[in-house]
Amino acid sequence: MDTPLTCRNYIDGKWLTAVAAATLESRNPANKREVIATFPRSAATDVDTAVFAARQAYQSWRLVPAPARAEYIFKVGELLSKYKEELAQLICREMGKPLAEARGDVQEGIDCAFYSAAEGRRLFGQTTPSEMPNKFAMTVRMPIGVCALITPWNFPIAIPCWKAMPALVCGNTVIFKPAEDTPACATKLVEIFAEAGLPPGIINLVHGVGEEVGKALVAHPDVDLVSFTGSSETGAEVGSICGRTHKRVCLEMGGKNAQIVMEDADLELALDGAVWGAFGTAGQRCTATSRLILHRDIKEKFTTMLKERTSKLRLGTGSDPNTEVGPIINERQLQRVSQYLDIARAEGAKVLIGGEIATEGELENGYFFQPTILDEVTPQMRVAQEEIFGPVVALIEVNSFEEAISILNNTKYGLSSSIYTRDINRAFTAMRDIEAGITYINGPTIGAEVHLPFGGVKQTGNGHREAGTTALDIFTEWKTVYVDFSGSLQRAQIDNRE
Ligand code: NAP
Repeated sequence: MDTPLTCRNYIDGKWLTAVAAATLESRNPANKREVIATFPRSAATDVDTAVFAARQAYQSWRLVPAPARAEYIFKVGELLSKYKEELAQLICREMGKPLAEARGDVQEGIDCAFYSAAEGRRLFGQTTPSEMPNKFAMTVRMPIGVCALITPWNFPIAIPCWKAMPALVCGNTVIFKPAEDTPACATKLVEIFAEAGLPPGIINLVHGVGEEVGKALVAHPDVDLVSFTGSSETGAEVGSICGRTHKRVCLEMGGKNAQIVMEDADLELALDGAVWGAFGTAGQRCTATSRLILHRDIKEKFTTMLKERTSKLRLGTGSDPNTEVGPIINERQLQRVSQYLDIARAEGAKVLIGGEIATEGELENGYFFQPTILDEVTPQMRVAQEEIFGPVVALIEVNSFEEAISILNNTKYGLSSSIYTRDINRAFTAMRDIEAGITYINGPTIGAEVHLPFGGVKQTGNGHREAGTTALDIFTEWKTVYVDFSGSLQRAQIDNRE
């Protein structure tokens, strides 16, 4: 076991201990005896210091030309590439996902760096004719100010990059509050931003407990914007505080994503998608497939195929190259998944495979749950409606395409969705009628790319989209500028009508 990393806050370009001496620790979810890092349990006063630093730095950062700001982010991308393997190993130990997926997590950060950096030379506004003579009209993007970035543990590198990179290119300064489960990943990431030479105060890191520092950041009067990714419950709380304090808020929250398999689908392809979508990252992705909506004509055959493939999945530590399904993040989440199995059984669902905490051999040292298939699930059951966030997939049988779409839409969430069909008419109808931010045709519910908008409808989001050019709409305000070079007062809607 390596020596635990001692994490500190990063404020105004300095690595600092928190005001209070209390510390917390993160552990390897595949081996709970291994402490990965200790980190400060920061308090509201640490938040005050970070917000002050970010506010001061904003005054000069907003005036740095966007292409120059972007060059720092490009450098971050180069450094992420340099440290990719080291970071992936750390993600694997601290968050638990298999190494190949951990590399993907870092790669998403790298992709985001280069994509965001390129925006520094675009940040396009519009020019448009004025209705008055000798008058010029245009729009420009303005930074917003101090941004609080609050992130979950499941993509400890990619999600902070999605937020911080466009925020900084747009001319904002940021305060990053990572999840308690992944402080070491957050620290390494901020070290990379620091190594890229970002001036003091531009990026700040405050560790601690969501209910304490997270809440203090959200409520802070000098924070202008909150970008939050996490559960819908926490998001609702964050959103209500931002509503009361008139802050811009971007919420990316839970999902209950479904994959439809129609009777005309390529079943092998649909099977590959279902297994990756349901059990990749042990089901701990906001876009994970947690419902499989199966047409009755292929239900039995597909279920047999799925059961066989699932029975062969290898559970284990992320660092073992043979591992296909890693651990659950912590004891609390493991118990939550287990409780959903009790709920499923009580509601009349049938456990086809899995259904228990896995304790064989070395698994006993970590938080492992068997890949689980629930059959005979009806759309109203809690396991068909609520986010479980574990390696559990519910099978729902349908009689028609229309019923499949209706059941897919019948949840309070709307993040990702998928349909496997060879019928082009059904594919296009699904694209139109599915209520979700993301729809895949003949692909699993997971697999977002950084240059396309990412986010959900209904209780998954609040109308914003991360990634793609839409991230700029989160981190900038539009300013409309009129330049009148007529030398006289021109009254719009009046003088040109007489
Ligand atoms: P969470 O419990 O809501 O926590 C998310 C973040 O919010 C953490 O940093 C947490 O800090 C902090 N937090 C907790 N309470 C807070 C409060 N009152 N005020 C401000 N911040 C607070 O979610 P999670 O368990 O980490 O992540 C899993 C959830 O994230 C799932 O629901 C998943 O679907 C969702 N998710 C959504 C997306 C998306 O893009 N839609 C992507 C990934 C994950 P602590 O760690 O200290 O509690």
